[in-house]
Amino acid sequence: MTGALLLVLQALIYFVTMAAIFHSRHRFGIGIFVCVLGVMHFLETYLAAVFFVQLPFGLISPGSTVMFSGKLLMFLLLYIKEDAETVRQPIYGLLIGNCLMVALALILRLYGDVAEMPGYQPDLTFLDDMGVLMVWGTALLFLDSIALILIYEKLGQRIANTLFKRIFLSAALVLTFDQLMFFLGLHLVSGVPISALYGGWIAKMAAAALYSAMLVIYLRYVETRPALAGPEPLLKVFDRLTFRHRYEDLLEKTGKDTLTGTSDRGHFEAVAQSLIDRPLADRKPVSMLMIDIDHFKSINDQYGHVTGDKVLKDVARALDGALRSGDRLFRYGGEEFVAICQDLNAGDATILAERLRAAVASMTLAEPGLSTTVSIGVTTARSGPVSVEQMIRDADTWLYRAKRLGRNRVESPVIA
Ligand code: GH3
Ligand code: MG
Ligand code: MG
Repeated sequence: MTGALLLVLQALIYFVTMAAIFHSRHRFGIGIFVCVLGVMHFLETYLAAVFFVQLPFGLISPGSTVMFSGKLLMFLLLYIKEDAETVRQPIYGLLIGNCLMVALALILRLYGDVAEMPGYQPDLTFLDDMGVLMVWGTALLFLDSIALILIYEKLGQRIANTLFKRIFLSAALVLTFDQLMFFLGLHLVSGVPISALYGGWIAKMAAAALYSAMLVIYLRYVETRPALAGPEPLLKVFDRLTFRHRYEDLLEKTGKDTLTGTSDRGHFEAVAQSLIDRPLADRKPVSMLMIDIDHFKSINDQYGHVTGDKVLKDVARALDGALRSGDRLFRYGGEEFVAICQDLNAGDATILAERLRAAVASMTLAEPGLSTTVSIGVTTARSGPVSVEQMIRDADTWLYRAKRLGRNRVESPVIA
């Protein structure tokens, strides 16, 4: 009985301390919380390998029951209150840290002249065993944490009608899997008897229940401000945890203008010439549309820059929607856009430009009573080589003419 009470006492101390550190993250940063989790790891694995106590229902390990189960729930807390991006940092950190530790420990045996310390002999076999368990344990933890969050999300969308049920079921499922797999490693490495499998499982289920209850209390009564991350589709969460999304994000964002999401000036400089050269090499025409918002300065002056930015976004969206799928739109300057349209002759380019102009003029803006228009200059090259600069100059000349003739209009050699 005392054994069970001591476990509960340890779990209480563990949870209250960790929750307090977590709660202070807005003042001191999340690093302290993550560091404390990491420091716990060695002792946790060490205890899980060698320290067992006999309870009525079997042989149990306080290292696994209190510290490992607790850590998993801490990851869930981190996910619920922050987001997948934050939680994956300690997950990856533990995995890499343990591998590094094992690599450094392996090199120890290459030292030739290890000094004798009276009464203390380095136990390298033990270190080997620990190394295997560390790597096995963290590999499992890696899977466990991802599974825990995925299951938590899945349950949220389906059956779990109370927060406790949702947290407890996710934790219980993952800890069951972990108990089976970690025990397998333990059994093979240090010959831990089978009674530890069953005893450990019961203890972990009890820990899952106790920690879930404490977590619910914490979420309900201690940290009541809404979470950063709303519910997300499962695949998205997984992508975030596995870093895939950051890579895709990076690909997506390179060369994109942050305000409107269209390709930016840098991207234009990089690709415009080849966008022009390619069709010309195939004896196909290429057209360029230079688009400038009319009296945009007065929108800024009258409604402020925040509204101005919104209008810019809306215009970009309208232009993008009116272009053909293969056309390329760039934010060339502040309120100037350039479209490069391959395989489009002068007549069709003028028609397309007119479609763009009409799309902007007819769109509804968020600001009541506000509307905006664009002027467009069009130029077409039929045979090469033609430089980007030349096409810009030509399109600009037609744009200037459109402005001069009253704005909200298209000008091109076809019309003139
Ligand atoms: P015109 O019809 O002759 O083109 O008149 P205009 O006022 O649109 O022309 P002008 O080039 O004088 O003004 C462009 C304005 O666009 C000036 C600048 O403050 C504004 N602008 C440029 N980039 C941004 C931006 O990113 N956000 C906002 N809100 N305004 C911008
Ligand atoms: Mg301008
Ligand atoms: Mg303008």
